[in-house]
Amino acid sequence: MAILETRGLNKRFGGLHVTNDVDFTLEKGEIHCLIGPNGAGKSTFFRLILGEYLPSSGQIFYRGEEITRAKSFERIRRGISVKFQVPGIFKALSVRQNLEIALQHHLDGASLKNEIARLLSFLKLEEAAHQLAGNLSHGQKQWLEIGMAVSLKPQLLLLDEPTAGMTPDETFATGEMVQALNAEGVTVLAVEHDMSFVRQISHKVTVLHFGKVFAQGTIDEIISDDRVAAIYLGQSDA
Ligand code: ADP
Ligand code: MG
Repeated sequence: MAILETRGLNKRFGGLHVTNDVDFTLEKGEIHCLIGPNGAGKSTFFRLILGEYLPSSGQIFYRGEEITRAKSFERIRRGISVKFQVPGIFKALSVRQNLEIALQHHLDGASLKNEIARLLSFLKLEEAAHQLAGNLSHGQKQWLEIGMAVSLKPQLLLLDEPTAGMTPDETFATGEMVQALNAEGVTVLAVEHDMSFVRQISHKVTVLHFGKVFAQGTIDEIISDDRVAAIYLGQSDA
């Protein structure tokens, strides 16, 4: 069953056609990576799914229901959550307080304490629990941000370049976190540049190019596709 589907999705900014007729299906339970050169429209596609941008035309369905023009908070309430490229954590508060803020909407008392403890362990942030979030290492900030996103108990988690700037060890640990969340039933759509990470986590890969779906398949099919290699030529970060 598809958890998310877009049909003929378009987004234009003035004369710039950033999302171009995208038909995309995300199966429930899958880990799907979205790749493509800089400026291909990956982040814009996320913002359309989240309702931060409204499409110029086309439709978006979540669990079979149309959400094309639903408000962002409504999509979040229905189980879509996101971790963007730029961390959205409260730097002047401790790690623990950040998680408390994210969780206190639906938990209190002992269940709140237990869930904070569970998340701190899951995010490898137990020893940093009382540090200010602003003082965390880059990788730890990303993990806290993932924690904030999963506090909402999403059914669909969107990750925009979750491993950007991470060391190889941090990247691998992030992959394990994503796989653990997926094993608990979370469907994942991740924008990612790091091909070793894409190989580690992805069941399926979609390549966006100039706002269009350019190729789709397993990581092995994608990396052996000469057309895909060609669009990355000359890109320093690919
Ligand atoms: P990616 O995440 O694949 O690097 P983006 O979705 O961020 O690509 O951007 C795709 C293109 O859309 C870029 O040319 C970018 O400048 C443009 N774009 C994104 N958001 C806006 C906006 N709010 N207004 C105008 N242009 C935008
Ligand atoms: Mg982007």
